Amino acid sequence: LPAAQEAPSAWLAGPVLPAPRSHASHKGSYGDVAVVGGEGLAARGLGMTGAALLAASAALHAGAGRVLVALLDDGRMALDGVQPELMFRRFDALALEELMVVCGCGGGEAVRTVLPTVLAQAARLVLDADALNALAADAALRSLVVNRSVRGLPTVLTPHPLEAARLLGLSAAEVQADRLRAAQQLAQQLHCIVILKGSGTVIAAPGQAPAINPTGNARLATAGTGDVLAGMVGAGLAGGRATGADALRAATEAVYLHGLAADRWPAEGTLTAGALARHIGNY
Ligand code: AMP
Ligand code: MG
Repeated sequence: LPAAQEAPSAWLAGPVLPAPRSHASHKGSYGDVAVVGGEGLAARGLGMTGAALLAASAALHAGAGRVLVALLDDGRMALDGVQPELMFRRFDALALEELMVVCGCGGGEAVRTVLPTVLAQAARLVLDADALNALAADAALRSLVVNRSVRGLPTVLTPHPLEAARLLGLSAAEVQADRLRAAQQLAQQLHCIVILKGSGTVIAAPGQAPAINPTGNARLATAGTGDVLAGMVGAGLAGGRATGADALRAATEAVYLHGLAADRWPAEGTLTAGALARHIGNY
């Protein structure tokens, strides 16, 4: 494998998320992000509504035009008061072919049921957490990911080392021993963009040298920051409409900005995922 490439010029120039607002634009210019997840196994007391809401909040604060949320399983939609800008929808009411979809922030087993539809239809797609675990368990779903690239539909995976290990059939230690190789292997195998998270987040795409993000620090090692990143990548994919940025550039900038926010976080304030999502537009 080639060595990691130099930091792309986008990193040196600074982030363009949120997408710059041109004078005559409207919310439709910045794209709709749909977050599909949350509520997984709520009946068994294992609900993860927070993960979907963090991703949705991050997408909103990172500049998406509109953010829709579909909570899986029991369809409870009594959460509008949490963040009134979010629009709650039933999964089967989403027009997936027109949406940038973030799938797997919570949702548990229910994600596996919706993934074939999501993979077939979503215009641009970010897969995190429960969606990655569903892929790891099901070769048919993995071939649907590959199929998206044939159809020219971008897909971004955002695994942490254990999620990447499950997808590659390795241990987390093996992934960590050569993070560049692991990220690149996953990108080649599934024909998609891979963001391998952790200290020194790696961004890989098929046929390209992987890159290591220069921002971020251990203050991000707290629950929910990965969900915030997934939402930001979703907003980046949506904002690509306004800025003309391709999926790799959008993913790269989202990772850079996520880390930059942590690097510039006030020394006296604790970094929490909710606060990170709310302040992401300030950096
Ligand atoms: P997750 O594992 O899905 O909760 O995501 C955690 C997020 O925090 C990812 O974006 C990681 O890259 C980031 N993160 C966690 N620990 C560190 C660390 N020690 N240094 C830099 N970034 C980190
Ligand atoms: Mg996570």
